[in-house]
Amino acid sequence: MLNSLSPDHITVDEIAGRYPPDIRVSVLRLDKLHPVISGNKWFKLRFYLEEAISQQKKGLLTFGGAWSNHIVATAAVCRENGLHSIGIIRGEEPAEWSQALLDAKKEGMQLHFISRTDYKEKHVPGELNISSRDYILVPEGGYGAAGVKGAATIAAIPAQIYSHYLCMAGTGTMTAGLINALPESSTVISISAMKNNHSLQEQISFQLAPVHADWTLLHDHHEGGYARFTPSLLRFMNDFYAETGIPTDFVYTAKLFRAVDDLVSRSFFPSGSRLLVIHSGGLQGNRSLPKGTLNF
Ligand SMILES: *Cc1c(COP(=O)(O)O)cnc(C)c1O
Repeated sequence: MLNSLSPDHITVDEIAGRYPPDIRVSVLRLDKLHPVISGNKWFKLRFYLEEAISQQKKGLLTFGGAWSNHIVATAAVCRENGLHSIGIIRGEEPAEWSQALLDAKKEGMQLHFISRTDYKEKHVPGELNISSRDYILVPEGGYGAAGVKGAATIAAIPAQIYSHYLCMAGTGTMTAGLINALPESSTVISISAMKNNHSLQEQISFQLAPVHADWTLLHDHHEGGYARFTPSLLRFMNDFYAETGIPTDFVYTAKLFRAVDDLVSRSFFPSGSRLLVIHSGGLQGNRSLPKGTLNF
């Protein structure tokens, strides 16, 4: 089932010298998993994929925006497993396709553009003549019990338990999986990639098991909003790469590492804390930046 995916590419890298000596910061490098099926996306998709295979469906049908990492990952996961994929894309077909749409198409995904109003309903337009019985429906971003269960398997990769786990949240699927998989003695700190997305708290809570880790959702690290960036963020990405050798993406993980810096500098973590920062991938999204912006 893994084909070119290789979980053994995933490493836990310690960041030395950047933080005070009483705070240890390690990074779970999910970004190393696969160049297209980036980071957390495979984990969120794995059980939907298993359902499609065991129920002998034609493939996966999912939803997303024109820049969605989830759309591309779904397309690639399906192609590698000999399944068909359908992407229902929010909004009219753009005159110029985004890199994500081009990639999804290259991976063989059948793409359909629907109006934003219809998209809200998340139904498969009747005129497409797609029998939804032939496909496993994957909600946007993999949000759902199977997605959360898949994301929970991320927590088992490192050999040890940390005091704090830090990750980004879009739909909150990965966050919920981590919270469910970790002991009550650990704290998951989830950073919303969006501005004022306060329904996220409930979206995460809804997916939680009775016993789970402690958790906090932070809303003040979006740096202007979802997928927004400033010269200062781009400078941070280059500096962080120069210092640590870790590449980041401007939508999610750069904001995550900036949040870590900010929290550490505000003494958010008690002395002796051991942090695991989840590098959830997304690097291919940097291709939408002007060439030469980044040094990696
Ligand atoms: C999709 C994505 C996320 C968000 O994951 P959710 O499970 O939707 O919260 C975080 N980081 C990266 C790099 C992503 O591509």
